[in-house]
Amino acid sequence: MKITNFRIAELQVPLKKPFKTALRSVEYIDDVVVEIHTDEGLVGYGEAAPTVVITGDSKGGITAAIRDHVAPALIGLSLDAPETIFGRLDGAILKNTSAKAAVDMAIYDLIGQSLGVPVYKLLGGFRDTLETDLTISLNQPGEMAVDAIEAVERGYKTLKIKLGKDPQLDLKRLMAVADAVGEQVSLRLDANQGWTAKEAVRILGKIQDQGIAIEFVEQPVAAHDFEGLKYVTDNTELAIMADESLFSPADALKLLQVRAVDLLNIKLMKCGGINQALKICMLAELYGVECMVGCMLESKLSVNAAAHLAAAKSVVRYVDLDGPGLSLTDPVDGGSAFDEARILISQSPGLGVKAVEGLHYLD
Ligand SMILES: [Mg+2]
Repeated sequence: MKITNFRIAELQVPLKKPFKTALRSVEYIDDVVVEIHTDEGLVGYGEAAPTVVITGDSKGGITAAIRDHVAPALIGLSLDAPETIFGRLDGAILKNTSAKAAVDMAIYDLIGQSLGVPVYKLLGGFRDTLETDLTISLNQPGEMAVDAIEAVERGYKTLKIKLGKDPQLDLKRLMAVADAVGEQVSLRLDANQGWTAKEAVRILGKIQDQGIAIEFVEQPVAAHDFEGLKYVTDNTELAIMADESLFSPADALKLLQVRAVDLLNIKLMKCGGINQALKICMLAELYGVECMVGCMLESKLSVNAAAHLAAAKSVVRYVDLDGPGLSLTDPVDGGSAFDEARILISQSPGLGVKAVEGLHYLD
């Protein structure tokens, strides 16, 4: 079976409420969808999220990368030789990990469909259900507490609390949430690079003094500051996770070699897709470090691909796949079932996506 054509489209999905972090505020998902067509009529689906403040990938950039560089490199290739396809994908253009992630997942979708096997089984098949957290956006303490209570009422047992704009206010935010939800809910923190290394150590010490139990803390310092990450990791008892510091398998290796963090957050949009994510999983396993699989602001289309990866691998202990939970509508027919915190992995061949509603084709 050969790759014959690429189609690129835009997809907008409204959010339940604006998504706010130390880096940005977003009102709706505004992503790029790619369809890869074959000579036997199968269609593979992928999605890329333009997260300019994290990946540098914009909508126009993603579209051009796929249309002008990736598609010409892949059209005509046989799905019988994935190694050739992924080599060409990687070499077609530097960086552009979001565009590559969309194409990579569409290729896995096609491979799974052609073999009649769901992708998570192809990759390892470790489990077929997952439990995700829900993100509480960065707002005033009172509003965050209200959002947290609402999330618990929706069935979430783990919440990811966005912090990182003001260390003093951050402590108030966290205490407001912790007071509101009580001890039966697990809390994870994400500072999105908002602190300096010393600020991070200070605030994490204060959090421990308050007796608030924290699962882990994501990306306390700037993405490039590997030394700062290591300083925080070495000077707190809380587990520290790399997010924006970790894009490629090479980044993972550097972080692991110096023990700069305790945990890794793998996102398809940062590493360039499932094929690269598997390399990070393998490295993490070798170094005895557990992973989370996370997502950007993505619809169920690409979050479903991340769920297949997360379900496949035993080294993935944590799941932060709340794009569908944050969305007001679901444009995807098929794929895994996202029922608030509970994700039931699709058993259909490939990624299980049958159709996507509301696509605006760019060709
Ligand atoms: Mg994060």
